[in-house]
Amino acid sequence: MDVKQQLGLAPGKWVVANCGKFPSEKNCKLVIMAPQSQRADLVEAAAAHAMRVHGHKESPQLRKELDKIIVAIDV
Ligand SMILES: [Zn+2]
Repeated sequence: MDVKQQLGLAPGKWVVANCGKFPSEKNCKLVIMAPQSQRADLVEAAAAHAMRVHGHKESPQLRKELDKIIVAIDV
């Protein structure tokens, strides 16, 4: 069984933010996914995570940086 089936993902475009790609003192491996149509929700969730867990400050710049690390995939 592949990951898509295990997660029960609807086929289509998905966007992914992978915290594990970045060095962190907490060794965080959080992955957040959303359908392409909910990209804004993904940025919000990633921003909340970055602030609460990694101590980043709320700012438009933070969201811009997070938006850059989002990867689009076909499921
Ligand atoms: Zn993290």
